[in-house]
Amino acid sequence: MNLFQYIPAEYTCPKCGWRRSVISPTLWRFYWIAAALAALPLWIASLCPPWSMPWYYGLSFLAGELLMIFISGFLCSISLFLFDSRGTIRCRSCRAMMSFNGRHFDPLGHPRPHWKDIVLLIVFLALNVALWLAIAYHK
Ligand SMILES: [Zn+2]
Repeated sequence: MNLFQYIPAEYTCPKCGWRRSVISPTLWRFYWIAAALAALPLWIASLCPPWSMPWYYGLSFLAGELLMIFISGFLCSISLFLFDSRGTIRCRSCRAMMSFNGRHFDPLGHPRPHWKDIVLLIVFLALNVALWLAIAYHK
């Protein structure tokens, strides 16, 4: 099963034909699984005595984890992923202006993660650890 799906942005040099694709991850199967796995311990903890919340609060934990994936994607897009735009304005081989050819889905998806998926997952896990520490030390 392909867990990852991307929206590639295609750039081509009109002079020499050099091509460049910039990958953008989408909220696809892998991220839904990651959000569900991250919401699971919070949901189980919320069922136990100090909180004793109703079971359907788990849906709000899942929504919160999906929001946290959005936040980690936002944090990555304004910091790290900007470095991936090299070679989209000027050609790396002949220095001519690059031509943007549009974005497209790849509907089949990919079995392996792109490095941006790994960075997103690390930021998502760091946000979750910060959340769990905030809950654990909240008085
Ligand atoms: Zn070129």
